[in-house]
Amino acid sequence: MSLTVIGTLAYDTIETAHDKREEILGGSAVYFALASSLFTPTSLVGVVGQDFLPKHTEALKAAGIDLEGLEVADGRTFRWSGRYEPDWNTRHTLDTQLNVLEHFDPKVPEAQRGARFVFLANASPQVQARGLDQIESPEFVMMDTMNLWIDIARDELVELLGRVDAVVLNDEEARMLTGEDNLWRAAAAVRALGPGLVVLKKGEHGAFLLEESWRFTVPAYPVVNVVDPTGAGDSFAGGFMGFMASVGDSNPSTLRQAMLYGTAAASRCVESFSTDQLEGRSLQEIEGRREELLAMITP
Ligand code: AMP
Repeated sequence: MSLTVIGTLAYDTIETAHDKREEILGGSAVYFALASSLFTPTSLVGVVGQDFLPKHTEALKAAGIDLEGLEVADGRTFRWSGRYEPDWNTRHTLDTQLNVLEHFDPKVPEAQRGARFVFLANASPQVQARGLDQIESPEFVMMDTMNLWIDIARDELVELLGRVDAVVLNDEEARMLTGEDNLWRAAAAVRALGPGLVVLKKGEHGAFLLEESWRFTVPAYPVVNVVDPTGAGDSFAGGFMGFMASVGDSNPSTLRQAMLYGTAAASRCVESFSTDQLEGRSLQEIEGRREELLAMITP
């Protein structure tokens, strides 16, 4: 089933307590699409600058990602730099250079306008909304966001939340968006803004799915060698929506399974810098981790 992601492609500079990497491939749409394309054909809508390396375009194509909606604009690719505290859960943004993102107006190719499953990966809510405007009648739209947009574009973000079926947030973002310090009140307040389904990510503590009448939780996969958590949220969303789109529905049982697949995909992502541990993966490897997770939570 068709899945389209609208989001960023980036060159990231990452510092952890143990290591540092400069100008490595990242971006919300990149992590998402590398994970989702393991499950289902994925089309990416985004922008890069003239400096985006052909080897990176080739890597995305090699994963089977459709790049018809990838614009190459005059200027430099988006840059983001972040530093993680030794606990991995606390991340500081050190630098954001929008570059070609500053004037980005997403253009969804004709062939993708009928997409049934859509993910609005982290980008400004204005960009996310302009992308969504071009999809004719999506069946299931999920969005992501971050503290920056809650800070500087709250009104646009709240308006967009009224147009989507699901949102994926981390605990800090949910509290920041709603002003509620209790996480469950925060989730309810997010739901009241529009999305029927809220997925709360709690880093190494796993993820919760909250619907009106039911809830589901999955622990994080116990990764022994965390190298770089960047992209964990996006690859979680990629596994989640990639699985959903491959099944072709949003029934509760599909959503529960999607939580396991998202968790398995994210666990791969954090084992390397950049996309190294997502590229060249097989669905079987993800399946193996999903089974381990299932065994962990089945009495
Ligand atoms: P995650 O760790 O899942 O939150 O995703 C990290 C990715 O988001 C990095 O590869 C960054 O390039 C990208 N990113 C960071 N800041 C922004 C932003 N303001 N808008 C869109 N993408 C961003």
